[in-house]
Amino acid sequence: MYLRLARRFLTETDKRLLMKAAWTLGVRGLWSVHQHKRRLKRGEFFPPFLYMSVINSCNLRCQGCWVDVGAKQSRIEVDAANQTIAEAKAMGNSFFGILGGEPFMHKDLMKIFEANRDVYFQVFTNGHFITDEVAAQLREYGNVTPLISVEGTEFISDTRRGRLDVLNHTMEGLKAALRNKLLVGVCTSVCKSNIDDLVNEAWVDRLIEMGVMYCWYHIYRPVGPEPNPQLALSSDEQRRVRQFVVDTRATKPIIVIDAYHDDAGNALCPAATGFTHHIGPWGDIEPCPVIQLATESIHDKKPLKETFNESGFLKDFREITAQNTRGCVIMERPDLLVELAEKHSARDTTARGEVIAELQNVTPRRSQFQPGDEIPERSLVYRWAKKYAFNDFGSYSRHFDTANYRDPDQAMASQEAGNQQ
Ligand code: SF4
Repeated sequence: MYLRLARRFLTETDKRLLMKAAWTLGVRGLWSVHQHKRRLKRGEFFPPFLYMSVINSCNLRCQGCWVDVGAKQSRIEVDAANQTIAEAKAMGNSFFGILGGEPFMHKDLMKIFEANRDVYFQVFTNGHFITDEVAAQLREYGNVTPLISVEGTEFISDTRRGRLDVLNHTMEGLKAALRNKLLVGVCTSVCKSNIDDLVNEAWVDRLIEMGVMYCWYHIYRPVGPEPNPQLALSSDEQRRVRQFVVDTRATKPIIVIDAYHDDAGNALCPAATGFTHHIGPWGDIEPCPVIQLATESIHDKKPLKETFNESGFLKDFREITAQNTRGCVIMERPDLLVELAEKHSARDTTARGEVIAELQNVTPRRSQFQPGDEIPERSLVYRWAKKYAFNDFGSYSRHFDTANYRDPDQAMASQEAGNQQ
C-alpha cells in the first residue's frame, strides 16, 4: 500500500506544492509539536495547532451546525488574522485550520494566504466557491489544502445541508481544485443518514480515482440551535467507523486523517490535550469550534503567548475534561461545561446567545471514547506518527480517573429500563 501511495504522490501532484506541504506541514509541523512538548515540560502552554473561523456567514444551512450562519456577518479581518498567525509562528507553529461558516465567503481570504506563504493552511469548505480562478490562485500560493465536505448522496446532501443541488456544486468545486493540482482532501461528518453511502470501500476508491489525496471521517455531534440528535451515531456505528478508518489506512493508497485516537486506539479530545484551540469569528478564544464559550479574545490588547499561558478558563477546561472522560465533553458531559462557564464567568460567544440553554438540553451520549473497545492502528506508519506527534501528551495519565467517568450508554439504558417499569 505504501508504494501505491508514494506513486500517487510522485505521479499525480504538483511537485512544488508537494514539497511545500512536506516541509511546512510535515517537517515544521513536527517541530511545532516538539516545541509544544518542551513548553509543557517547562510548565508553559501554547497550542501547536490553531483553528480560526474567519467568518460566520455560509450559503448552506446544515443540520447540527453550531455557527450563527444567518446572523450579521462577522469576519476576522486580514490584519487581525496576520497578527494572530505571526504570534503563533513565533511560538513555532506552521499550520492553521481555517473554518467558518464558509471561509471562501470571506472577501479577503486570499490576502491572508498570500501574506503568510511561509505557513500552511487547511481550509474546511463546502467547495461551492472554488472556481478554476480561485484554485489557480491557490496553486500559485502553494500553501493551502482545501478539505471539502461531502455529506451524502444528492438527496441526503440537500437534506443535510438545507439547500438544493448541494452535491453538484460541491463536486464542481472539488473538480476545479483537482484540475489545478491542489492537494485536496474530502471530509464527512458521519451520521445515520450517510454512514452506509460514505463509509465504504467504493466511496474511498472513487475519491482515489478522482485524485483526492486524503480523507477525514468526523463523527456527527448533535450540537447547536438545531442539533438533530436522531442523526447521531450509536456506539456500534462509531466502532464501525473507527474500524473502517484503521483498515483503510492499511489497505488503500490514500491518507486517512483522524483527530480522536492515539496509536493504541485510545480515545482523546484534541482540545482537552491542548493540541488545538479555536478562534471564533468574533475573535473569541474557545476550547474548540463547538464549545462556544470564552474569557479571552485575540482582540484583547495582550500577547497571545501570555493569553494561552495564563488562561485559567482554558487550563480548567483541559484538566476538568481530562479528569472525567477521554471522549467529547460536549456530547458526554455538557453539564461540566455549564459549571465551567459559571466558575469563570465565561461569555457565550454566539450571536444567538443560547449556548448554556443548548448545553442544558443535550442528552449525554457516547462519543469516540468506547472503553474496552479500543482499536489500535494496523499501519506501522500511522502507529509511529501518532506515537510521536499525536497522542495525549500525558494529559489523561495525569488527570483521567475512571471513578469520575459516567458512561452515557449505561445512563441511557437504566433510563429506558426505568421508563418501561
Ligand atoms: S470537545 Fe468534542 S468536539 Fe471539541 S475538540 Fe473535543 S472531542 Fe472535538
